[in-house]
Amino acid sequence: MNKEILKSISILYVEDENDVREFTSKLLTSLLKKVYTAKDGQEGLDIYKENFNNIDLIISDINMPKMNGLIMCEKIKEINKDIPLVITSAHNDTNFLKKAIEVGVSTYAMKPIDLYQLIESITKAMEPILLRKQLVELNLSLETKIEQEICKIKSILDAQNNIIILTNKENITNVNKKFLQFFGIDDFDKFLETKKNIFDFFIEEFGFITKNQIIKQESWLRYIKDLPEVDRIVKIKNYLHEEKVFTINVEYYENKEHYYVFSLTDITKIKEKSNLLEYQASHDRLTGLFNRNKFDEFYSKEVKRSKRYKTELSIIIFDIDDFKIINDTHGHQIGDVVLKEISQIISLHIREQDIAVRWGGEEFLVLLPHTNLDGATTVANKIRTNIEVYSFTQLNLKITASFGVCELKEEDTDESLILRTDKFLYEAKNNGKNKVIAK
Ligand code: GH3
Ligand code: MG
Ligand code: MG
Repeated sequence: MNKEILKSISILYVEDENDVREFTSKLLTSLLKKVYTAKDGQEGLDIYKENFNNIDLIISDINMPKMNGLIMCEKIKEINKDIPLVITSAHNDTNFLKKAIEVGVSTYAMKPIDLYQLIESITKAMEPILLRKQLVELNLSLETKIEQEICKIKSILDAQNNIIILTNKENITNVNKKFLQFFGIDDFDKFLETKKNIFDFFIEEFGFITKNQIIKQESWLRYIKDLPEVDRIVKIKNYLHEEKVFTINVEYYENKEHYYVFSLTDITKIKEKSNLLEYQASHDRLTGLFNRNKFDEFYSKEVKRSKRYKTELSIIIFDIDDFKIINDTHGHQIGDVVLKEISQIISLHIREQDIAVRWGGEEFLVLLPHTNLDGATTVANKIRTNIEVYSFTQLNLKITASFGVCELKEEDTDESLILRTDKFLYEAKNNGKNKVIAK
């Protein structure tokens, strides 16, 4: 044991022979941190009781007045069962040794005391205590280190702009600050009291991952993780009831335990913008009906599908009568209002699967899947009569339109169907307008 360790040890030395006590304690004082001395067992016990926090080891003689060393040791052991005891004695009869073992004496040094041997005995007795001390210190420093690391990781997670969720297998174990802010809570445990999982918040809506979809899976996390990126999208309401759109990224880790890091990136603004762009690219600005671009996209598909599955398909093309006059007498703006209101009339009288298109300036087209000529004619007439009786805003006059209606025939191409319908529309124009010609 090195000198430094000895310098950290305080002992109680009990010896009734004054010379021996004074001489030995002087030597020990120069080597150890502190040496308490007592001249008999009773005094030793009293000193120990007063200073038990500062005494690491007891060295005691056996035969002493008032209370012998072994009895004192027994009483001290009742206070601290782990205190190392070193006994000094001039004789080594077996009875005394037996008693010493019973009391739990760590080791003993023979009298007359040899300092070198005494230090050896102290060292031997202190070893388990010092080892334990070192272990405690090591554990403490390890715990602080772990705590520091956890703090570091937590601050990294909190600094993220994404909502981060950590799970142990399937259950959430930790979340970052952004999560708490989003749900307007200050305590994660409170969240767990009301909701068990993040998917309880997923809004049921087409195009987004929903709870219904998830709970059917064996592992909801693995299911989301394995989805293609474009499908890993959810909609969640924040504490202000605002709907936000997120893409999800799931990382899996295996390190004794299985855990996932689930991160949600807010794409609400991007999504809104892309929805808007998509809408603008496919709809007519004035009327909100589909534009010709969008029509081109699905028209030939509809024709192909109808021919393949032998289903009926019809189209209506109509044109407002004398629209130029309306524009010329009431102004272009009123003309625009008429176009908008006619679009609303169309939308009111077609089915969900029918597709209404602004075909040209004051021309409209309606594509009617699963509809024969009779059905399409009925729809055309419904639109025609509803335009005729409609009171347009700021206009006190009757507006009419002329219609051509056709059903797709086996020999038709995409173009021929349109051309035929257009021809009938002009036939209607030439035959007095406000008419439906269907063939
Ligand atoms: P017809 O009965 O033969 O169809 O006569 P018409 O006057 O309706 O036909 P014409 O093709 O001569 O005139 C169509 C008019 O529609 C001319 C054009 O200024 C107007 N128009 C086209 N697009 C718009 C639009 O977006 N807004 C307004 N206000 N007018 C439009
Ligand atoms: Mg016209
Ligand atoms: Mg026209």
